Amino acid sequence: MTSIDSTVVLPGPRTTAGSLDARAVSAWFGDRKVLDQVSLTMPAGQVTALIGPSGCGKSTFLRILNRMHELIPGAALAGEVLLEGSDIYAPERRLTSARRDIGMVFQKPNPFPAMSIYDNVVAGLKLTGIRASRAEKDHLVEECLTKAGLWREVQDRLRQPGGALSGGQQQRLCIARSLAVRPKVLLMDEPCSALDPTSTRRIEQTIRELVHEVTIVIVTHNMQQAHRVSDRCAFFLAEHGTPGGIVEHGPTEAMFTTPADPRTSDYVNGRF
Ligand code: ADP
Ligand code: MG
Repeated sequence: MTSIDSTVVLPGPRTTAGSLDARAVSAWFGDRKVLDQVSLTMPAGQVTALIGPSGCGKSTFLRILNRMHELIPGAALAGEVLLEGSDIYAPERRLTSARRDIGMVFQKPNPFPAMSIYDNVVAGLKLTGIRASRAEKDHLVEECLTKAGLWREVQDRLRQPGGALSGGQQQRLCIARSLAVRPKVLLMDEPCSALDPTSTRRIEQTIRELVHEVTIVIVTHNMQQAHRVSDRCAFFLAEHGTPGGIVEHGPTEAMFTTPADPRTSDYVNGRF
């Protein structure tokens, strides 16, 4: 048995991803409300894509899902976020445990540039209070780099700095780093926006391979990408200065072929 908040021993590979449930989530920056009563279920073992124009609150929503929003000065929120039914904002639940369970990959790859590839992968262990032996770390580095599709390219140069890799490789290193703490959910905020088409396709492939073990929530402006990688989509909109909300959500195929709302149809078909 491991307790949620004390130092834990590295768990074995997970076989089940976790479901995430946002209930009536609202968010403010100072006096300005930017999200209004957003509710969304992100089922375990599926990719949920968040789509919608810039400024409608997708990144804010994503940050709320792993308790990064509360670190922004002046930011406030209301509502609940349940991971496998348990509130990540419950007072007894520490920030490190939420971070361990819910990882994040950003638009701009952000490995620790001077740190070795090896150390980048295991960097999250200490931060989130996971103990691992040298042998476990060696195994983990190979496992996570393999899952992120990077192992073959870097196995002979694990001691080189992460910053020496190409942009696409750096993003895959960031994915490997997120996976090392065995998250139940991986949040990705436009992970391919800064990448070339080949790197983008490799990451999309990685996403589809990973989703069996980790639930994925991805923000993307690329509708073809949303269509290719996601099982479900949620269309966010902030109309005429109102706070952002979800217009419509559902299975990706239905969102693209038979959306219920004309605004969804306009957006997914590029008529926006
Ligand atoms: P999206 O990711 O959909 O483009 P964001 O979540 O980044 O949207 O932004 C939603 C709204 O919140 C925007 O109007 C944006 O200007 C505002 N906003 C985002 N971050 C901050 C911040 N740190 N301080 C103040 N306002 C912010
Ligand atoms: Mg954003």
